[in-house]
Amino acid sequence: TMLVPSDFLLISELGMGAGGRVYKALHQPTLTLVAVKELPMASAKKRDSLKKELKVLYTQLQGLAEDKPKEEYMDMLRGKAFRSNHVVSFYDAYSTEAGFCHVVMEYMNGGSLQDLIDKGGCRNEDLLRNIARGIAKGLKELHENKFLHRDLKPANVLMGTDGKVKVADFGVSRDLASSKDLAKTFIGTFLYMSPERIKGEDYDGKSDIWGLGMTLLASFLGRFPHEISNKNAAYWEMYDKFVSEDSHHMEDQVRAFGGSQELEDFVRLCLQKDPAERPSTALLLEHPFLAIGEGRITAASDTERIEQAKKIEILEVVTCCKEHGVKFPR
Ligand code: ATP
Ligand code: MG
Repeated sequence: TMLVPSDFLLISELGMGAGGRVYKALHQPTLTLVAVKELPMASAKKRDSLKKELKVLYTQLQGLAEDKPKEEYMDMLRGKAFRSNHVVSFYDAYSTEAGFCHVVMEYMNGGSLQDLIDKGGCRNEDLLRNIARGIAKGLKELHENKFLHRDLKPANVLMGTDGKVKVADFGVSRDLASSKDLAKTFIGTFLYMSPERIKGEDYDGKSDIWGLGMTLLASFLGRFPHEISNKNAAYWEMYDKFVSEDSHHMEDQVRAFGGSQELEDFVRLCLQKDPAERPSTALLLEHPFLAIGEGRITAASDTERIEQAKKIEILEVVTCCKEHGVKFPR
């Protein structure tokens, strides 16, 4: 561990997943807000292998040396080191006295797409475009580094007040849920699984493309795109709908609810049953739905937006410091 666990002050709970709780925390030496994911840790061996895996994953993605000097960690927290625009950064992981593993990551203050869905979804296609583009670019980054996300769903797409959209929680952390939570993990997750995964077949990056399609459609509709009538039999309902039926017609809902032709076509391409037919991230990024607004936000309004977001972030840090009696340098 390079970062000192006692430097983190837990502020509030951000949410709860299958693995455990996620907290908003303040890294006191740098006055940086971070997200801390608390995972139950069965054994030290398991923890060590998780840490190793996380490290490899992120140092590769972030283009950092694997054994960073402490200063580099600090710069990373201060946002000075490279930070991907589309993948949530990992900072460090350590174990606590209470027997948990804390995974420290970049804090995204705009909530997740699941929050957006719970509030009714989003019919504004410019915003949807920004979301789809963020996810596609995040997946492209992962796929180019030979990683699969494996768990793309609305709860794992996070937003910043600056309009950034990033993918979180890929690959590793989910293997950690203790076996008693396994059923819950499974339920939370298989809704966004591709047909080939539901069937238990081999899968590749195209499986993440399916997740992108379903996530985008759910964000537009404000609900999961297929009605599950019996929660206890959800797996079999999914199996019937996406594996057995010849055609699922999920994308028809776009037009039924007033969406554009381009959005419908984008969703249709992602949700093809045969993974080989689904486009790659590179192809998707050239799709008319994403091409429409690429240059629309001018540089001027971009700067303004980022300035505004910075102010909100600073205000959030100041508020936390005040509430918790942390000294804030003037
Ligand atoms: P899973 O356990 O399958 O990943 P999940 O994504 O719902 O399911 P968590 O990853 O534990 O569960 O996250 C729970 C919630 O905490 C998320 O829905 C999100 O609202 C919030 N959250 C997670 N990571 C961050 C982060 N880096 N910044 C801000 N909020 C976060
Ligand atoms: Mg998650």
